[in-house]
Amino acid sequence: VKRKERSVADYVQGVLAGDRTLLAQAITLVESNAARHLELAQQVLNELLPHVGRSIRIGVTGVPGAGKSTFIEAFGTFLCEQGHRVAVLAVDPTSSLTGGSILGDKTRMETLARNPRAFIRPSPSGGALGGVHRKTRETMMLCEAAGYDIILVETVGVGQSEFVVRGMVDFFLLLALTGAGDELQGMKRGIMELVDAIVINKADGDNKEKARAAQKEYNQFLHYLRPATPGWQTKAYTCSALLGEGIADIWQVIETFVKTTKQSGVFDDRRRQQQKDWMHAMIKEYVETRFFADPIVKEKLPALENSVISGSKPVTAAVRELIEAYERGIGGQ
Ligand code: GDP
Repeated sequence: VKRKERSVADYVQGVLAGDRTLLAQAITLVESNAARHLELAQQVLNELLPHVGRSIRIGVTGVPGAGKSTFIEAFGTFLCEQGHRVAVLAVDPTSSLTGGSILGDKTRMETLARNPRAFIRPSPSGGALGGVHRKTRETMMLCEAAGYDIILVETVGVGQSEFVVRGMVDFFLLLALTGAGDELQGMKRGIMELVDAIVINKADGDNKEKARAAQKEYNQFLHYLRPATPGWQTKAYTCSALLGEGIADIWQVIETFVKTTKQSGVFDDRRRQQQKDWMHAMIKEYVETRFFADPIVKEKLPALENSVISGSKPVTAAVRELIEAYERGIGGQ
């Protein structure tokens, strides 16, 4: 049965009313790569703009097995019990390559998925990370308009995805495991400079003492790093996502963070900067795509590459030649 196409007003009213089916359909719309959907999606987002932005956006990263889904299940359920409405999204760097997704497995977060105050959306697939990036941000906007006041964005600590998520959240949390010594050696210092808290998970049973020791080590190390957020000292904490221990404390840390950074203006500064960065990233992506799809560029590029490889032409000269040919082509259109 072919469903009648919904209008902009259908989506807008449905999302604002918190209708989950319409929210899910609106997300499918922003995730679509079809040109007519893109147009419709932008109209919907434009109408919803006044209702966007009033949430706390929290990123959660960590290696596979760190306990991200167990943590989000426990943390999300706790937040719902506190009266919040929680949306869980994902940025999955592997989904665009494999077609799989970190939230695709329906057995994850079963309790939270059944909670009427929670909304879980698997990561969008298809397209480059840049495309996934846009889709996740726009999905976040839709969730905010639908009344979700806490957005959790999950990602796996692989490649660029951590930078992408840092660029769209207010608070960024790293779930870590004990054995801090090894991890501190191997872990990219870069990620530690991106996060606002390190939470050592699985602090239960025999592991409790080790988790405390790891916490100490991390704190010593963190002391020497540049904090991710001006005016906020990133610290290490422990929790057991499995037993639900330490979960309320982490929420308290985040509440303090929000209060502190709102007072200092850092919270709003970051949001403004994120909007600008997103805009610039999209412009770059657009210009790059147009450039490499251009017939003149396509025709000239292989020969110029060869001349650069063989050393018969300097790179700068080859690039200039290509860009000039492209610009002449555009002018002639
Ligand atoms: P993810 O890959 O980061 O999403 O990790 P999962 O949430 O799937 O957890 C990986 C494994 O660690 C699962 O077997 C969980 O049951 C287990 N796990 C997660 N959190 C805890 C915890 O706090 N304590 C213990 N003992 N096990 C945990």
